[in-house]
Amino acid sequence: IDFIQALKMEGDDDKTEKEEKTEYQKMRMTIEETKKSLPIYSFKESLIEAIKKYQILIVEGETGSGKTTQIPQYLLEAGFTKDSKKIGCTQPRRVAAMSVAARVAQEMNVKLGNEVGYSIRFEDCTSDRTVIKYMTDGTLHREFLSEPDLASYSVMIIDEAHERTLHTDILFGLVKDITRFRPDLKLLISSATLDAEKFSNFFDDAPIFRIPGRRFPVDIYYTKAPEADYVDASVVSVLQIHATQPLGDILVFLTGQEEIETCVEMLQERTKRIGKKLKELLILPVYANLPSDMQAKIFEPTPEGARKVVLATNIAETSLTIDNIIYVIDPGFAKQNNFNSKTGMESLMVVPISKASANQRAGRAGRVAPGKCFRLYTAWAYKYELEDNTIPEIQRINLGNAVLTLKALGINDLIHFDFLDPPPHETLVLALEQLYALGALNHHGELTKAGRRMAEFPTDPMLAKMLLASEKYKCSEEIVTIAAMLSVNSSVFYRPKDKIIHADTARKNFFHHKGDHLTLMNVYNQWVASDYSVQWCYENFVQYRSMKRARDVREQLVGLMERVEIEMMSSVADDTNIRKAITAGYFYHIAKFSKGGHYKTVKHNQTVMIHPNSALFEELPRWVIYHELVFTSKEFMRQVTEIESKWLLEVAPHYYKSKELEDSTNKKMPKTVGKSSGTQ
Ligand code: ADP
Ligand code: MG
Repeated sequence: IDFIQALKMEGDDDKTEKEEKTEYQKMRMTIEETKKSLPIYSFKESLIEAIKKYQILIVEGETGSGKTTQIPQYLLEAGFTKDSKKIGCTQPRRVAAMSVAARVAQEMNVKLGNEVGYSIRFEDCTSDRTVIKYMTDGTLHREFLSEPDLASYSVMIIDEAHERTLHTDILFGLVKDITRFRPDLKLLISSATLDAEKFSNFFDDAPIFRIPGRRFPVDIYYTKAPEADYVDASVVSVLQIHATQPLGDILVFLTGQEEIETCVEMLQERTKRIGKKLKELLILPVYANLPSDMQAKIFEPTPEGARKVVLATNIAETSLTIDNIIYVIDPGFAKQNNFNSKTGMESLMVVPISKASANQRAGRAGRVAPGKCFRLYTAWAYKYELEDNTIPEIQRINLGNAVLTLKALGINDLIHFDFLDPPPHETLVLALEQLYALGALNHHGELTKAGRRMAEFPTDPMLAKMLLASEKYKCSEEIVTIAAMLSVNSSVFYRPKDKIIHADTARKNFFHHKGDHLTLMNVYNQWVASDYSVQWCYENFVQYRSMKRARDVREQLVGLMERVEIEMMSSVADDTNIRKAITAGYFYHIAKFSKGGHYKTVKHNQTVMIHPNSALFEELPRWVIYHELVFTSKEFMRQVTEIESKWLLEVAPHYYKSKELEDSTNKKMPKTVGKSSGTQ
């Protein structure tokens, strides 16, 4: 890598050793000292004053200035919870909500879940005593269903507003509306970057409270040529920094769990080979599904004389602040959910980040001392290829779930909803059409009885529909299991580099000949039969913590099934019924085998492939249903199950016509496949 030369030269110069020492002493500060050292601390009084004076306040401050962890505590001290009302604070990410709540509980010296708690999808860690509640923006969105005026809150903080997630964007409209008839509710919109003016305009010119940041300079390095393999390049860069640069922790931005795990393994292997010649390197991953005790590790101070490298997803860009990062490695990519409103297809893909993101990432290196950021792309790419800003989620993802929740809130006219940036008209129409096809809306666009039941589930409407359909097909036990497993699907199987063959054999032993949904069910049922054994997981290369999470999710889903009055019933012997119930929810996700060994989606004739990990990878049945599309080198279907085309007429007669489901495989005219669909 090109900048290695630059590193070597600087590494020869060791006069920064002393400066580092002081950084390490700083790290050992007590909690009280840390709190006082945060930039926000000196603004405590003026901030509280401003909040008392104005109903809505925009708070802007550099990441790490203390907004998320401190403001709720200041409000508590100032008496905002006196009449037994809570302070709420939303986070776009699950991990952030949990981690920040844990930190604040620690700062206040209380047990997490008592005075300070968090609530995320499928997990509520709060109690009657909770006065500071962190939650995901999705959770608050759903809370509107049971408490439309947020009566139990005295202050609501919409935090990390700059992230512009779908739920945050919708919350803007909802909370703005509420402030009109709840004059006692205080609303804070907190953001890390320069969108403050825009937020202020939206909230009727609410005043902006700026917390001046402190930031040290960060030197930026680029590669001279594009990197073919950024994971490998990241590993090489980490080792180069470790070998040549003064102590100070490293933060690497990767796109997801799999990539991070690969990187961890590569680093462990290579540092082992290098042996004792180098100082100790602590390798720490952080991503959404990481268990919380492991997450807590990234915040532990680095032992003296050692160096820490944190391998993180986007979560470390603004949501989590890890102290003492001096070096940032930025490959320039992130995973993003993208929705094509022309084809109605949603797909998770790795995309280049925006300039705004790149600058946030670089900024992480300059919080405690001057830092360095190594971009694994060229200066030219930065200048000419990266977009200025990331497009808000509301303009690029499927709105099905959001629209269903809004309809359930009684907001019928979505075209005139108060959006900060409105979604594209086609996307909105498509979401309405999809909900109509799923039976959640009638032809006037009003919520049906089924729609109301679907809205009870904090899931994609397709998954909710699948759960409802299990009633008719008498297989609610199985469908609930499958739904729970789908929610952890990417991390069920463990595949260590040195035991790939064993792991793959173990995985194949679970295969169900009809596909992956039933394979996942097999895994779960066998685990239950082993009495939830850790040892069983270990022997079968199954991730114990994923299974544990699936079990929690399953329990929650069973509770929700009870709420919508669906009896738990089993038809384990009849996989046709189970597959029909899946089809009743996911009939949008159908593909048909076509010439040339690949599949075409039925409605839009897109070429897709079965993922190599699928139980059906070598089977290639004629008709399949898939759970999701993942775009890597090709468009892959993940979690695939064989179905019969005639079921589509049974479960979605208003969506499929028998003509488009005719089996043309035996005929000579493959051209007609999918052509008759038109646009839906
Ligand atoms: P902001 O919201 O302005 O980005 P935060 O309130 O998240 O800032 O972070 C302020 C400081 O709190 C961080 O610099 C860090 O020292 C500390 N902190 C935050 N979360 C944790 C945690 N989970 N463990 C330890 N320290 C934390
Ligand atoms: Mg924050």
